[in-house]
This record gives sequence, C-alpha cells and structure tokens, in this order.
Amino acid sequence: MAQIDDLPPLRDVIAAHGLNAKKSLGQNFLLDLNLTSRIARSAGSLEDCTVLEVGPGPGGLTRALLAAGAKRVIAIEKDSRCLPALAEISAHYPGRLEVIEGDALEIDPVALTGGDKVRIAANLPYNVGTQLLINWITTPQWPPFWSSLTLMFQKEVGERISAPPASKAYGRLAVLAGWRCKGGILFDISPKAFTPPPKVTSAVVHLTPNPSPLPCDLKALEKITAAAFGQRRKMLRASLRSLTPDAEDLVTKAGLKPTARAEEIDIAGFVELANTFRAAQAV
Ligand code: SAM
Repeated sequence: MAQIDDLPPLRDVIAAHGLNAKKSLGQNFLLDLNLTSRIARSAGSLEDCTVLEVGPGPGGLTRALLAAGAKRVIAIEKDSRCLPALAEISAHYPGRLEVIEGDALEIDPVALTGGDKVRIAANLPYNVGTQLLINWITTPQWPPFWSSLTLMFQKEVGERISAPPASKAYGRLAVLAGWRCKGGILFDISPKAFTPPPKVTSAVVHLTPNPSPLPCDLKALEKITAAAFGQRRKMLRASLRSLTPDAEDLVTKAGLKPTARAEEIDIAGFVELANTFRAAQAV
C-alpha cells in the first residue's frame, strides 16, 4: 500500500471509527491509496483551485487530493459517522480541508465555493451520482462554476455519458454531456478494489466544459431529449407528440426525417430540434 501521508491506513481508520459500510448510502470504500492518488492526479493541477468532493467517507480520495497539493478541499458528506475520521485529516492539513455535513443534492455548490476556480472530484454514491452529474452539466451559467469533473461511476453510467449516436448506451445523458462537455472514461476500476466490493465494474470519467457549445436553450433541449428518449423505439414524429401535436412538422422543420428514431440523431440534430421547438413555442 502507498504511503502518501503520516495518517493511519484506511483499514485502521474504518475499524477505529466503526465505519461499517451502509448500502443505503452507496458506501463502497476505496482503501488503496495508490488508486485514490491515481484518481487525484487525473483531476489535473490542484494547487491553484478549490476541489469540491462529494462523499469523502473515511477519506481515501480526500487524502490523495490533499497529498497531491490541492490548495483547499471542500467535502460534503451525508454520513455523520465519518466526521471524526475526516476531522483527523483536517488536523493533518491545517486550513486546507473543510467538511460540510449534509446532502450534496441540497447544497448550492456555487455559494459553497465562493467564486474560486473549482475542480470537482468524487467517488460518487451510485444512488445520487447521475443526478449530481446532471445538476453540474445543466447549471444555467455557462461556462460553469467548475473547470473539470473527475468522477467515479458504475461503468455502465460512464458509458452512457460518452456514448456515440446509434449505440445502445446513447441517450439523454450523452446528448447533454456531449453538448456541453468534452472528455469521457479514463480508466476502469475492478470491483475487487472496493470494500465491500460492488457487483459491477466502475469507471473514472473526466469532463471539462466545452467553452462554446452550439447555441441552444437548455430547457428546450432537456424537454426534447426527455420526450425522444422516453420512447426511444418510436419514430420522432410519434415520440415528440407528447410535446406538440405538430411533431412531424417540427421534425421536418429541423431538417430531420420524421421517421428517424432518437438514437439516430446526433447532438447537432437535437440542438436543431430544440431550437425549432423553442422558436415555435415563442410564436
Ligand atoms: N470517497 C470515499 C471512497 O472513495 O472510499 C467514499 C465513496 S462511497 C462510494 C460514497 C460516499 O458518499 C459515502 O461516504 C456516502 O456516505 C456518501 N454519500 C451518499 N449519499 C450522499 C449525499 N447525498 N450527499 C453527500 N454524501 C453522500
């Protein structure tokens, strides 16, 4: 095991604080500091920014981020049992780690990070990971408050983020992420690396903001992709009928075939559909 600081091994931290993993909180801990250091390095240079971490748990990734030189880490943890273990890390890195007890879905990350350059790095709890990602990529302000996302998900979610059109995993998440971000899966992590091991392989995803996404109204794009992929087997002229009775007309005006299915439409096609829908609504 790597020695990245003078703190005790994570296995001892877990035993000392009685942190037996809770399934309801998506707790699968990474105890190998080699691996957490690899994730921290993937986030890019950390010396000049605030790192926002969701779900530090016993602190394996937190320690790696601090050892890698993060100027400041703000970590949001829902499980109060983890706070004493995290306080030991704070004491080891004075003034550099702030731990917030709470639900990351309910905390405003912009207010928390106060305008500093922000990188988000996390081994996300599986039950809220996708929603957090959607919140970060659909933030109204663009470019967003963050300059990179380095996130661990179940591999299947990682594949849905970076899937190309016409593939099985292509859907709403790929369109939203592909419209606003660049990047994808960096590497996989075997279930064996976690305590307790999850049932599936995980993947580390790295995304940076696309500085100039195709101009498009976010709300319209969300509505169009939700309707189109909500009934992905249907042709667009049918699946978009839940949004407008003139679905065939909408698809034709966007320059697409009304008989096409959602998975055949690339990101530029969805942007065109959303802009045409928005213009029709405005009339
Ligand atoms: N970062 C640690 C690691 O890599 O070993 C723990 C990762 S574990 C997959 C997910 C962590 O997220 C747990 O510590 C869990 O308590 C926490 N968590 C779950 N739901 C949360 C939420 N809504 N807000 C903040 N933390 C949450």
